[in-house]
Amino acid sequence: MPEKIVIVGNGIVGLGNALHLRRAGHDVTVVDRTPLDEGTSTGNAGGVAGAAFLPIPEPGLWKTVPALLLNPLGPLSIRWRDLGKLAPWLYQFLRACRPDAYRRGIEAMGNLMSLAGDAHLEMLEATGLKHLLRQSGVLFVYRSEASCDASAASWQHRARHGFDCQRLGRAGIRNMEPALGEEAQAGYFVPSWWNYRDPKELLIELAAHLRQCGVEFQTGNVAGFDIGTDGPVAVRFDDGATLAFDRVVICAGAWSGRLSAMLGEPFSIVADRGYNTTLPNPGIEIGRTIDFAEDSFVITPMSMGYRVGGAVELASPETPPNYARCEALLTLAKRYLPELNVEGGSQWMGCRPSTPDSVPVISRSAKHGNVFYCFGHGHLGLTGSMVSGRLIGHLMAGETPNIDMAPYRIDLFR
Ligand SMILES: Cc1cc2nc3c(=O)[nH]c(=O)nc-3n(C[C@H](O)[C@H](O)[C@H](O)COP(=O)(O)OP(=O)(O)OC[C@H]3O[C@@H](n4cnc5c(N)ncnc54)[C@H](O)[C@@H]3O)c2cc1C
Repeated sequence: MPEKIVIVGNGIVGLGNALHLRRAGHDVTVVDRTPLDEGTSTGNAGGVAGAAFLPIPEPGLWKTVPALLLNPLGPLSIRWRDLGKLAPWLYQFLRACRPDAYRRGIEAMGNLMSLAGDAHLEMLEATGLKHLLRQSGVLFVYRSEASCDASAASWQHRARHGFDCQRLGRAGIRNMEPALGEEAQAGYFVPSWWNYRDPKELLIELAAHLRQCGVEFQTGNVAGFDIGTDGPVAVRFDDGATLAFDRVVICAGAWSGRLSAMLGEPFSIVADRGYNTTLPNPGIEIGRTIDFAEDSFVITPMSMGYRVGGAVELASPETPPNYARCEALLTLAKRYLPELNVEGGSQWMGCRPSTPDSVPVISRSAKHGNVFYCFGHGHLGLTGSMVSGRLIGHLMAGETPNIDMAPYRIDLFR
């Protein structure tokens, strides 16, 4: 039976859900407090990057954290004044570094992300948006043969989950990307890593398609829920207006924990803030995304220029951006790509919605039969958006998905 479904969040995960739920015949309304062309889903690197599925918390990571935090060009920073808010998440993050938890995270992420690419192709086929995707693969580079060899275990995990990973020496990477300088000495090529030419364009085009199919979009800041005798029945906006639903899906990115708490299911999620600079005149030619594995950043050719991005800054989403992170990434990029022109770039910051173990929540509520959660995709929200929407569709229809859904449950950490 068609139901009235409200999706909170017009980011790429909300749109992935809208696509699948509308296709199942439901009456779908997407609500958000900000316009579609703002926010984290609009400015990322555009990668359908399933091969990057390894969780961030890993055994022994805590030993390297002090050095990472002290390195001004390093990939990790914490806004110390937000430490009180971050503490519960950091505690769970440290627990997720235990070897057994890491192994579980690898399986959960590998199983999910190995389905992600096909889900994008299926969406692009159905919507007529295939021209937005470039399928040119990714080149991971390392500073030495030794450091590349030291990462062998991570490449074995990727291969085990079906990703073709081709080991290359200095000549191989140079052949593929002649702009690389002496800093890059070895690497891996992964053909099944694709890129949208502009994630904002994808969002706008996909939303236009959804509107044509009957999905409605409404502006509003969800401040609470009206609860009937059998559970939640409407979202309540901060101006007092309400919107009734049969079912609701929370796809509110880094803010999802605030909404799940209003529904009696608190969940620890933080804004893992990333930065990038888009260079309109890069002055070099690269053929694909290059991932600088030891320095945790990427450069991606996009329709509006080359985007240099990365960094993990743990902070409240409301804390003002620190664009010194962008400068640090450009300094690193020049080391690998000596001829890169870093002048005239535009800077951006986005809030990745990150769970302590890097595994997203894709779940029916443990408390309310008509509430669903789809959030916390961290560094891989674009990648995981379409497969996650499909899985929520299965859960809503009472179908058994083709992967075990237990690792993505909302009540796992409580
Ligand atoms: C530098 C950087 C590079 C990245 N590169 C990639 C990449 O190459 N590939 C990839 O897969 N991922 C990448 N990501 C991650 C990706 O951008 C995110 O995981 C993804 O955008 C999250 O989408 P979302 O829909 O879950 O959240 P969002 O896009 O944040 O959307 C959530 C929406 O919920 C709304 N909302 C929240 N609370 C409320 C409320 N109370 N009422 C109304 N609306 C509300 C917000 O306004 C927001 O619009 C990158 C991220 C960064 C920062």
